[in-house]
Amino acid sequence: MNLRKEAVRRDKADPLARYRERFHLPDGIIYLDGNSLGALPKATCERMAQVVTGEWGQGLIRSWNDAGSGGAGWISLSRRVGAKIAPLIGADTEEVIACDSTSVNLFKLIAAALDMQARQAGGAGLNARKVILSEAGNFPTDLYMIAGLERQGLAERRLAERDGIAAALSGDVALLMLTHVHYKTGAMYDMRALTAAAQDAGALVLWDLSHSTGAVPVVLNDCNADFAVGCGYKYLNGGPGAPAFAYAARRHHDRLAQPLTGWFGHERPFAFVDDYAPAPGIERMLAGTPPVLGLSALEVGVDLIAEIGIANLREKSLKMGAFFLECLEQMNLTLELVSPANGAERGSQLSFRHDEAYAISQALIARGVIGDFRDPDILRLGFAPAYLSFGDLWQAADILRQVITNREWDRDQFRRRAAVT
Ligand SMILES: *Cc1c(COP(=O)(O)O)cnc(C)c1O
Repeated sequence: MNLRKEAVRRDKADPLARYRERFHLPDGIIYLDGNSLGALPKATCERMAQVVTGEWGQGLIRSWNDAGSGGAGWISLSRRVGAKIAPLIGADTEEVIACDSTSVNLFKLIAAALDMQARQAGGAGLNARKVILSEAGNFPTDLYMIAGLERQGLAERRLAERDGIAAALSGDVALLMLTHVHYKTGAMYDMRALTAAAQDAGALVLWDLSHSTGAVPVVLNDCNADFAVGCGYKYLNGGPGAPAFAYAARRHHDRLAQPLTGWFGHERPFAFVDDYAPAPGIERMLAGTPPVLGLSALEVGVDLIAEIGIANLREKSLKMGAFFLECLEQMNLTLELVSPANGAERGSQLSFRHDEAYAISQALIARGVIGDFRDPDILRLGFAPAYLSFGDLWQAADILRQVITNREWDRDQFRRRAAVT
């Protein structure tokens, strides 16, 4: 089969092909890094101009109460954007709030989970569980965010290998904290099975959905998850440094005590009283004044992903991963795949191990194919189905073949490490 022609055929038959024009994509670039920084929706430019010149410039302070569609005001943005993210991750609208960074939301929820375990143990006169169990090689910030609580004597970090997680769920584990789709390999955990196993062992569960949200279907409530966080600037296309989100199952809201007790999480922020009292629902996850510009841009990205539909995105993503591997095979390019070969077991990326992965990623960028590199030897190619075509994938595979077979990467300029890889 001629895969170049097959790509054309598939693009013609692709029901999502029409969404490509809803994004700004630079000419001559094949963008395989939407899992790191999503592309810019065209509607974001219009919306940002409106928010900056209209809501800020003209509305000034009044916009806190009356800006935006329906005149709900900036004050409701965190809730509104959270409510729009909720159906993408199988949560109820009152269970998700858009705020802060993924790192900060991790800290708040880890601390809240430890507090919950401590109070439960206190009631039973027992020593509180303090162990946070996670995967060795999890995303750095997830592991680092435990350190601050560890230093205060509140937490104890324990790491296990991927296939040893279930066995490591001993009776002292307070919280199992895992990244649903691994950032480096794209390997996806069985959320349902691990949530059940952790809860059977008396632990709470916190899922990091950074590489899942907007790419793979997630059903938090159906899996009986306790907590989750996720990222706004990856598959949700919220823009660089976009606000993240936090989820807490409704059954925990009354007992949820997070340590960043700022005025926006207060039950009456504008009562200006001296004593803190948490807001009744998920709003207690808030700390300070929300970033209105960032939330406004994120809202556009979330609306667009919701319009396309997670099931549709996943269906195309699975086809794209398989097609790319088929292209490499037909081009006789043997690369060591570190992602699961079975599409059902991975997110929307393919990662390959190569001693010269960094130089290869740089040589690819020089040829207009933007993927990325993850230390020490991983070439990571992300497939954002909202704006990529099968033609892009064929061409990217062909350029990768040329870069490797002609040793185009073998130049000093491609070995110089930039600050951000
Ligand atoms: C991208 C990513 C983050 C990002 O955290 P920030 O606070 O936005 O820097 C966190 N966790 C995982 C697993 C990620 O992939």
